[in-house]
Amino acid sequence: MAMMMLAGAMALGAGGKVAAGQAASGQTAAFGPDNPFYAASTLPYQAPPFDKIKDSDYQPAFDAGMAEQRKEIDAIANNSAPPTFENTLVALERSGQLYSRVQQVFDGVSQANTNPALDKVDAIEAPKRAAQDDAIFLNEKLFQRVAAIYKQMDSLGLDAESKRLVDVYYKHFVHQGANLSEADKTKLKKLNEEISTLENSFKQKLLAATKDAAYTTKDKSALKGLSDAELGAAADAAKERKVDGYVLPLQNTTQQPILSSLQVRATRQAVFEDSWNRAERGGANDTRATIARLAQVRADKAKLLGYPNFAAWNLEDQMAKTPDAAIKFMDALVPASTAKAVDEGKDIQALIDSQQGGFQLQPWDWNFYSDQVRKAKYDLDEAQVKPYFEVWNVLQNGVFYAANQLYGITFKERKDIPVYQPDVRVFEVFDADGKPLALWYCDYYKRDNKNGGAWMSNFVGQSKLLGTLPVIYNVANFQKPSAGEPALISFDDATTMFHEFGHALHGMFSDAEYPLLSGTNVPRDFVEFPSQFNEHWASYPAVFNHYAKHYKTGEPMPAELAAKIRKAAKFNQGYALTEIVAAAELDMQWHTIPASAKLEDVDAFEKAALERKHLALTAVPPRYRSSYFLHIWDNGYEAGYYAYLWSEMLDDDAYQWFEDHGGLTRANGDRFRKMVLSRGYTEDLGKMYSAWLGAEPSTAPMLKYRGLVEDTAAAPK
Ligand SMILES: [Zn+2]
Repeated sequence: MAMMMLAGAMALGAGGKVAAGQAASGQTAAFGPDNPFYAASTLPYQAPPFDKIKDSDYQPAFDAGMAEQRKEIDAIANNSAPPTFENTLVALERSGQLYSRVQQVFDGVSQANTNPALDKVDAIEAPKRAAQDDAIFLNEKLFQRVAAIYKQMDSLGLDAESKRLVDVYYKHFVHQGANLSEADKTKLKKLNEEISTLENSFKQKLLAATKDAAYTTKDKSALKGLSDAELGAAADAAKERKVDGYVLPLQNTTQQPILSSLQVRATRQAVFEDSWNRAERGGANDTRATIARLAQVRADKAKLLGYPNFAAWNLEDQMAKTPDAAIKFMDALVPASTAKAVDEGKDIQALIDSQQGGFQLQPWDWNFYSDQVRKAKYDLDEAQVKPYFEVWNVLQNGVFYAANQLYGITFKERKDIPVYQPDVRVFEVFDADGKPLALWYCDYYKRDNKNGGAWMSNFVGQSKLLGTLPVIYNVANFQKPSAGEPALISFDDATTMFHEFGHALHGMFSDAEYPLLSGTNVPRDFVEFPSQFNEHWASYPAVFNHYAKHYKTGEPMPAELAAKIRKAAKFNQGYALTEIVAAAELDMQWHTIPASAKLEDVDAFEKAALERKHLALTAVPPRYRSSYFLHIWDNGYEAGYYAYLWSEMLDDDAYQWFEDHGGLTRANGDRFRKMVLSRGYTEDLGKMYSAWLGAEPSTAPMLKYRGLVEDTAAAPK
């Protein structure tokens, strides 16, 4: 999941140089040259000086950064000279560098390695940050200058990227309410502040709720089926929390990977229910009232801006353009995916019956038995597979190797670059001609003070205007091994590494002049395309054979086992697609409520929404329940979770193109880099995609790679 999107000042400016002294005005007394954010970092690539940054440095830097940017914006808006591209648009792109510097570092650290001090800063700064966006995009004088340039854009002799900058700014101003009356602008500011506070409250409640809801037991026999390593990790987790016995920390999804190993059905049910009800247990960390209100306020905001619902407003600048287009696309996936899931459920029920189970399949049984069906069908055992996926070997000989083969880039570890937590590793990335390209950090191990899931973002964004090269990070939640043990991961985890690295490539290859149009600053329904595309190389034979080697012996994975993994990748895809479609449809239902809707009963709304969409399958719950759906309540995927599926259509289609043109070659990689990965948001994405592909995107490859339709040449293109 990428964190960056085209949403206000977050995308304005991307770190860079600022003259000392220029940053020193209008801030709190606590801010001065001894604050590490005061001037651009002097480390290579302007990497954050984590050896110097203290928790107490963020808030003064935020306040000074916002004040400085407001001064800069005022100077641009009140300039007595007539508006020009340079004195308005370029000046905007140069503004807010101190603010960018602190927020990019703060966002990275507070999501991956938070603590009570950072939580407090976050709670205080979040509404101010939302107000900062408004100070720019609701600034009437600034808008008038941008609008004047927009109207005469074609006569200014601008290059294509500069024209694009004008167009994107103008439309974003309008989207953010620049055409509203002063009274309505005031209303909008209030709504934005409430939204931001609710989002922040949701995030903090969920993190605490997820930690609290972890299954805890003193009874080792309840955990029958866990490997010694899994038991060891459960004992370590208990120690870390200072409780007796064993703790199974919750992953952020509904299904918990550990359920596939737990042999005691009552334990499975308990773990599942801990997950499903994590944020619905009453008390301070119950999120339901927060999200019901959030959905309502978002609908109010859309109405104020002149849209029938939040999704209609939010999709305007997306590749899909309208909720109808996204819903139509999702609805079309429902019959094929649920039919397949029902078939898979029948196979599982047959297995339960053959073992005289005497019960109906429930969601907590699904992974446990589907693992057995998988073994019966493919004889594939995770425990047999994992020794071939040692995390650092997957990185070097898989993720890095594929990128080298496609794009010629190379990697060198930099132990001299400071990190925010000792498990983080840093690599310098060099282009094919040996030129420095980027810094890349990875923070792979799960911690209680880290948000769930995996994501990418940057500490410094690429911009030729600002003279900055990208500083990118990938974060994941892989189980940290006990001391001295290898970090063995599943093939799914390996695929996650390729995924996040695909986002990283999109950031690293960025070759944009302007920060706003750089790297992963693209709409949500495009941003997952480069990452999901990169996942394909995880199972591409020439790559797979290069990294799937036994951690002890270095022996390559036996061909027979590798073939099973490839076949098994199409296993359980009915379930996998259905749980995602269900979550995506839920998201869209929450965000197409009209402004007049009453405060919803969260559970009743969810149930009705799933039934309406023919997705209320007892044994196949949505991948996220509304009450713990972090993507849509705080992480920028509101009315945008469909984007993963939309991007999947694009990425499978793109991979099909590679397959049709010789696969893993430098020629293919370089063409893709040149026409897509380096382009950021510098051109219309639909046109960019079609120009590269030579056709319009199609869902046929998606259904084929999911194994939901027969893999034949007759599949409709
Ligand atoms: Zn992603």
